[in-house]
Amino acid sequence: MKHQLTHQTLLVPAKEGRGFLLEKGQLIKVIDEEGQQVVDFVAYRTSNLKERLDPSVTMDALRSMNLKPSDILYSNMYTPLLTILEDTVGKHDLINSACRPEMYTFLYDKTNHASCYHNLNAALAPFGIPQPDQHYTFNIFMNTIVDEQGNIEVKAPLSKAGDYILMRAELDLIVAVSACPCEESDCNGYHCSPIRVEILPN
Ligand SMILES: [Zn+2]
Repeated sequence: MKHQLTHQTLLVPAKEGRGFLLEKGQLIKVIDEEGQQVVDFVAYRTSNLKERLDPSVTMDALRSMNLKPSDILYSNMYTPLLTILEDTVGKHDLINSACRPEMYTFLYDKTNHASCYHNLNAALAPFGIPQPDQHYTFNIFMNTIVDEQGNIEVKAPLSKAGDYILMRAELDLIVAVSACPCEESDCNGYHCSPIRVEILPN
């Protein structure tokens, strides 16, 4: 199949996105190649494209904003989609939606900026997934700090070159990732870099 990856490695260039199939039982390893690079991650259930990884449901089910090995990522139907097996960083984000061109205009007065929203749409299009109003992403390696007053600050990722998160697919999934193209903030340490995805047998 065109988009099938089996025991493969996929290098996603800086500021770009990719989509691929992940079979039930397969493992996916998302690796920060150079360090301090956020990966926006979405997953859709192959048998029902209206069912997708839902960060809000995941926080509800886990009763936590923080993730750790053995934690499950849930769909909008409260179905387990992925299980975290290993994590060398321990700091990710479930509360921020994907960056989009309008965000770069709002925050940085820039127009037509590359975005995770666009990257994910382009990566998912070959699988017949229509563009949503917004992607609510699992933001791997994103270092969001919420203080006791509720103030939100995005700091540089804690990930160093070679750090990774390893997950197991609990169902057949269509996955897309975006190497976040924001270089205007500490989100990616003011520098965009590639990411690597490995698909491994269980
Ligand atoms: Zn982004």
